[in-house]
Amino acid sequence: MSAASQQKTDYWQSHDRQHHLHPFTDHKELAEKGGSRIITRADGVYIYDSEGQEILDGMAGLWCVNLGYGRRELVDAATLQMMELPYYNNFFQCTHPPAIELSALLSELSPGNFKQVFFTGSGSEANDTQIRLIRRYWDLMDQPDKMTIIARNNAYHGSTIAGASLSGMSAMHEQMRLPVPGIVHIEQPHQFELGADLSAEEFGLRQARLLEEKILELGADKVAAFIGEPVQGAGGVIIPPDSYWPEIQRICEEYDILLVADEVITAFGRLGEWFGSTHFGIKPDLISFAKGVTSGYLPLGGALVSDRVSEVIVSKGGEFAHGFTYSGHPAACAVALASIRIMQKEHIVERVKKQTIPYFHERWVTLGEHPIVGEARSVGLMAALEIVKDKSNRERFHKDLGAGTRCRDFCVNNGLVMRAVGDTMIVSPPLVVEKHHIDELVEKAWRCLDLTAASLRTG
Ligand SMILES: *Cc1c(COP(=O)(O)O)cnc(C)c1O
Repeated sequence: MSAASQQKTDYWQSHDRQHHLHPFTDHKELAEKGGSRIITRADGVYIYDSEGQEILDGMAGLWCVNLGYGRRELVDAATLQMMELPYYNNFFQCTHPPAIELSALLSELSPGNFKQVFFTGSGSEANDTQIRLIRRYWDLMDQPDKMTIIARNNAYHGSTIAGASLSGMSAMHEQMRLPVPGIVHIEQPHQFELGADLSAEEFGLRQARLLEEKILELGADKVAAFIGEPVQGAGGVIIPPDSYWPEIQRICEEYDILLVADEVITAFGRLGEWFGSTHFGIKPDLISFAKGVTSGYLPLGGALVSDRVSEVIVSKGGEFAHGFTYSGHPAACAVALASIRIMQKEHIVERVKKQTIPYFHERWVTLGEHPIVGEARSVGLMAALEIVKDKSNRERFHKDLGAGTRCRDFCVNNGLVMRAVGDTMIVSPPLVVEKHHIDELVEKAWRCLDLTAASLRTG
């Protein structure tokens, strides 16, 4: 590292410390560590920090940079759109071509009968929108008491008040005195933590039937919807057993409950399909998307609305009293269109399904042989490792040892972004990773697990 880059880093870190409040960060701890790592540029699947270190981005930013960094076509799409029409809204009976074209394309790619799209600026706003759509639907159906939404512990649906309420993260709930009324949670399908004694089949059915129990407890005439991520992402890449989603589907149909798939991570190729619902055979009534829709180049999210819901909302009339200034921002829609067209032209979803996912899975599960790994699991291009002290009984290291954050720090210092969720390590690489990147990812992960194990032995 040169003296000049050191000086710049010091300058940025000091201003960052003084002025910048970061999301999901313990600022006291950050200051004690010396400050943030500053990412200054990126290319392909690598990011570069202010000291010139190259880091393989195993998380695709925050699960979003699916096409990798430095895609000229996406930059050009934004530039051209900004020259032509940088902003106009979709309120009050106006709209613009990018929002129209993107809504038609999303409808075409969606699994099943999703003819309409409501745009937002983020995944949290998408889920906020779902709550409004759900309430509006049941009101118009003359069942206004069908109001409660059932979500799951350790789910992540965003950080607005509504998003955090749907989420099942206890730390968020405690700090914000959530959830808001009308949202309740059931236990998640996390077999490593909750179902070691059962077969996958039995565990999946047992966890799905918690939904039925909750509906019966509340009364089906009070329950509006169930929301779930096809695979829980931020909770630690929790992959439900194959028996789980079909049973959830059965229960939603039997009790006439709307099913919302939060596909903010799983849509746009991450599970080898345009939508993760296809992978699991889920037939949702509503789908939330964001993140990968623009490959993260600009913020955009939305709700895909099935005919069942949109026909009621449209045919019964009355204003849907909801919207954001940036609902369907033209530049963001233009980038989403360009991103989806690249994926189509380069057959990215098919390639990921046929080549990248099988190779990634084969390599990833070898990490399960590491002495401190209790389980290595993956689905699509989402994967997790459970760090344990004792492989035979899944005993964890003492919480105060911070095994997960140690491993994360070893990784980033050795050129790999791997995220820690407690003592679960997760990755979700860009869809454009090639075999040699996957080899690099797995080799670095193994080396950093070695370093983690050694450091835990010495305290
Ligand atoms: C990230 C995420 C969200 C929230 O999206 P934001 O754009 O951060 O508001 C919602 N749901 C899921 C499944 C997510 O992963």
